[in-house]
Order: sequence, then C-alpha cells, then structure tokens
Amino acid sequence: MGSDRSKSSKNKPRKMIPKGLEAAHSMRDKFRNACATPVETLRKISQDMLSQMEAGLQSDGESRLRMLLSFVEHLPCGNETGLFYGLDLGGTNFRVLRVQLGGKEKRILKQESKVDSIPSEIMTSTNEELFDYIARVLADFVATEGVDCNLILGQKRELGFTFSFPVSQESLNSGKLVKWTKGFAIAETIGQDVVKELQAAMERCKLDMHVIAMVNDTTGTLAGGRYWNEDVMAGLILGTGSNACYVEQTSEIPKWPPSLPKPEETVINIEWGHFWSPHIPKTEIDDDLDAESVHPGQQVFEKLFSGMYLGDIVRRMILKLAEQACLLGGVTEIPSNMATPFVLRTRDVSIMHEDESENLENVARVMETIFGLKELPLEVRKVIKDVCEITAARGARLVAAGIVGIVRKIGGRKKKICIAIDGSLYEHYTKFRAKLHEALVELLGQEAAAKVVIELSKDGSGLGAALLAASHSKKDLEDKCDKQ
Ligand code: ADP
Ligand code: MG
Repeated sequence: MGSDRSKSSKNKPRKMIPKGLEAAHSMRDKFRNACATPVETLRKISQDMLSQMEAGLQSDGESRLRMLLSFVEHLPCGNETGLFYGLDLGGTNFRVLRVQLGGKEKRILKQESKVDSIPSEIMTSTNEELFDYIARVLADFVATEGVDCNLILGQKRELGFTFSFPVSQESLNSGKLVKWTKGFAIAETIGQDVVKELQAAMERCKLDMHVIAMVNDTTGTLAGGRYWNEDVMAGLILGTGSNACYVEQTSEIPKWPPSLPKPEETVINIEWGHFWSPHIPKTEIDDDLDAESVHPGQQVFEKLFSGMYLGDIVRRMILKLAEQACLLGGVTEIPSNMATPFVLRTRDVSIMHEDESENLENVARVMETIFGLKELPLEVRKVIKDVCEITAARGARLVAAGIVGIVRKIGGRKKKICIAIDGSLYEHYTKFRAKLHEALVELLGQEAAAKVVIELSKDGSGLGAALLAASHSKKDLEDKCDKQ
C-alpha cells in the first residue's frame, strides 16, 4: 500500500486497478464457506436451541439460556377497558403513551404518545435525578389528558413499564437492576428495585399513578401482538440487540417457585442473545469482534446478526480483504478509519446488499461517504456486496433456526403460531427478512411454514406494557381472558 493520493489529486483521479482481485475472490469464497449454513446445520442448531430452552426451564444456571420468568399471568385479549399508560425505556430515547381501551368490539379508542430523550448528563447522574426526569415527563404528558379520557373519579392511573435492561424479577411489579447498559451508569441504582424508584419519583412529582407491570421489550412486543391476535405465541426483537420470548405452560416449568400462584401459562424471556451451539459457523472475524467488545464471551449469538454488530462484521471482512488480498488494488492507501469499530453501520450494509443497479452505485456511494474511497472498480464493488450478502444470510438463517427451536417447543398446542417482531433490522432490511423467511420454509417445509406467521409489531413494546397493565389491573378482573 502506501501510495500518496494527495499527489495525484490535482490530476485526473487515478483509476484503481483491481490487482488483487483473484486473491480477493478466493478469500471471499473461503469466507462464504466458513459462514455456510446448510439446512442440516440449521436443524442441529434449532435442536440445540430447543434442548437449551428445556434445560433452562429445569433450574437456574443449568443452561446458557436463562429462561427468565416474566410473572405475566394474563396476556391482553381485547376485552380490556379503561385508560392506561405505558412507559418504554430501553435506551436514550423513551416513549410515554396513553391508551383508551373500549373492550372487544371497540378496541383502542384513542392512543397518544410522546418521545423524549434522557439528557446524557442525567444518564450518569443519580437515581433521583434520573427517575425524577422520567416522572416529570410522564406528569407533563398526563397533564395533556383530554376530557374524553374516562378515568373514574378517585381511581389511580395505571402504568405498564417496559424496561429493557437486565433485571432480576420476583414479581410482575418489581425488579432489581442487575447492571446498566447502553450508556447509563448510575452505580447506586444497581441492586435497587427500579419499580420502587419510579414509584417514589412519581410521588415526588405528585403524580397519582401506580406501576402494575414491568416487562422487557420482548414481552411487551408479544403482549402488543396478542391483544390483536390470539395466535401470537412468541415475541422477537431484531434491532440493536436481539432477544425472544414465548408463551409456556407452567406445567412445563420445573423451576416454577412452589410459593407462587401458578397460572396455566406465562411468558418466558429466553434471553436468546447469549445462545450458543457448536454447530454455529463462526469465523476469526467473529472471534476478534467478540474479544474486542465491551463484554467478551457474552451475547455471542446476538453478535452474529443484530443491528449493532452486523455492520462491523462486514467492515472487518472488507478490511481483511484490503490488507491480505489487496482488494483496493494496491494503488490506494487503506483508509485509516477502516480500522475503526462500528464506522460501517448495519443500515449501510443493507443499502449495499440491496443495491440492484448495474454499476452498484449505492455500494460506491457508501464506500465513498464512509471511507472516502473514490471510483472503486465494479469488480471490487461486487466483492463488497458479496460480503454483505454472506454475512446477512448467515445471520438471517441463524435467526430462522432459533425461531424453529421455539416453534418446536410450543409444539402442537396451536394450529397456527404467530410471532410478533419488533426492530429496525427486521423492519427495514428487506433482504435479511427475505432470507429469514426462506430459511423457515427450508427448515419446516412449505406446509408447516405456512402455519408460522411473522408479524411486524412496530414499537409494540410500549403499547404492550400499557396493555399488560390493563390485563393485570385489579379494576376489571372479569375482563381477563385466562384461557388462551
Ligand atoms: P432498538 O433495538 O434500540 O430499540 P431499533 O429497533 O430501531 O432500536 O434498531 C436499531 C438497529 O437497527 C440499529 O443497530 C441499526 O443498525 C439497525 N437498522 C436501522 N435501520 C436499518 C436498516 N435500514 N437496515 C438494517 N439495519 C437497520
Ligand atoms: Mg426497540
């Protein structure tokens, strides 16, 4: 490498000759083989998902899959009536929402929401400042309630809280924070009950509201889907991270605490991001990405495909092709930011992968915008698109194998199984979605695959929390739909 681009910049831009193309092709082919997920492999992976789910239900610590109890007793079914609030906190942005439920026939009479973001100084301040900030936004939102909000005089407002950080729960309306992630760092919250903290802040703000349910985003998504469709049996997140949950019979949960009342069914949070199987195809690049990550050895399944990581796998492979196979032709320097983690985002990968233009103009545009690479020859663009395709296909097919594990765990309980999915990766990356569906058909066969329906449930997790508050509200016990 080592040529000086600035010297030639006054003249006509120097054309890069795809000198290393043969070596690059051979390296790309090796990468394709290393990432291959033939259907027999996917079958073994889905079997491992199923066995590890079963082991995790036996007792805590038995499996990589934590199979956490959600303590959800009643999933929403549409009968619920009244005014309920939701709060969805999973990162910098949080959403507050209000729904007016009209029961089976009328369903959602009115839904309003507002998005706010936590200022960065609050994310690292104190417990009181953080929860006071949230409670104040909630109180301001409550103050905008219209006259048509039919709260019965003297009745407390009720809230469902989607909290997407690791918590250890012992009931639906309590949960101790295990650790903060995603930029939050307030040491004193760790080990505290976040529901109590929120409740106390609401009291300080003179907000008369009661937290009925705290769930993670996966369970919120499942609940949001179930409200409309009783066939929804699982919830899946394919966004920054990835996780899944499903409806399980409590008779199938040996670790169910004997002291707790036993509903017929509940929701299990699989925490599938941490899944692993020896059959999963993994490369050196995945090992490097994991080793250099904030939590090495953790969430290794998620690191193969979620929105946070997919772009970085592709970046690492392009860098390797440039360094070891002279992909950039040897006439240009390797851009220094090509070694910077996360500069290439998953959204960029989807743009390049979905580029159907003859000259792969979008691939060229992304490479120029991010790395300042001009005039990449078409053959080089093609290799880059191939890397996107290989990485996304492996990820989507692994997700399909995981879904089949869940479908098999649910078994013959339902004629049709719907899975509610939330997350931008699934919503916006069309080819990822297509590969996932294609692999489901390969794994299950046409007929059985037709009975597994995947529904996008956009931002369903906040609404799902409000609906769970409704389905667990003490106000309308007769509205519960216990029989699924
Ligand atoms: P969160 O999971 O934090 O709630 P989202 O569901 O919006 O948020 O997911 C964000 C992730 O989705 C990001 O990591 C981003 O890389 C990825 N993403 C956003 N848009 C696209 C896109 N068009 N194609 C592929 N991935 C995308
Ligand atoms: Mg989300």
